[in-house]
Amino acid sequence: MWSWRAWKRQRTLRRHQVSDQQWAQALQALPLLDGLGAEQEQRLRERSLLFLAEKTLTPLPGLELSDHDCLLLAAQAQLPLLGLEELGWYQGFHELVLYPDDFVSPQKYRDPSGVEHSWDAEHSGEAWEQGPVILAWPGVEASGGWDGYNLVIHELAHKLDMLNGTANGLPPLHRGMSVERWAEAMQQAFDDLNRQLDADEQTDTLIDPYAAENPAEFFAVTSEYFFSAPDVLLQAYPQVYRQLQAFYRQDPLERLRLSESTGNARQHPEPGLQP
Ligand SMILES: [Zn+2]
Repeated sequence: MWSWRAWKRQRTLRRHQVSDQQWAQALQALPLLDGLGAEQEQRLRERSLLFLAEKTLTPLPGLELSDHDCLLLAAQAQLPLLGLEELGWYQGFHELVLYPDDFVSPQKYRDPSGVEHSWDAEHSGEAWEQGPVILAWPGVEASGGWDGYNLVIHELAHKLDMLNGTANGLPPLHRGMSVERWAEAMQQAFDDLNRQLDADEQTDTLIDPYAAENPAEFFAVTSEYFFSAPDVLLQAYPQVYRQLQAFYRQDPLERLRLSESTGNARQHPEPGLQP
């Protein structure tokens, strides 16, 4: 049956082509994509192009992006959705604003006694409700390895979280998933991380302590680990790994093992890089 949607998709793909060589260069620059099967790789390639056709990438003065750069960004943005049907997971925002460097954003916090504190915080990324995703390019460049850090996946996880309201660590779950089981797995792990940090702020936690900020950051940081250090997340919080596996419908640990068995170099998580 003729479908407007399918026709539009084909037309977009024809207009925004990427050569085999460009795609091979992107794969080479992103060890994170190691171990994808041929069909998954083709799907990622198409969806990356559709993403670039749909979204506006706005580099701010001081930053210029090549086609290669845009492709790296798009492929990492699409990796989390690879196991999901295309149902507009990144709806509700049209633009990604790219800063040449970390940016300062005003923050406000009202403490329990009602006093309002405000300060400027340096950020490498932000996802605004009903607004754009903001990424500092050095953070994007530091992403793409198997090292537990991925700014693109982190900020886009916030966008998935916002699909059903405010970012609170609970994205819209698929049919068959249980909100109770999700909440229990996340809460236990979140509490455990906070307990460790309350006992000793300097302690070496398995995952980035930034995850202990609030449930939304916990979901974003564990999503980063799920895709870029799945072994670390599985070791730290196996129930969280399983919930994310059910949500993203992928098993990155399998790809990591495959990548390791083919001898690809593995970088270890670098503590201290905070999105
Ligand atoms: Zn965040």
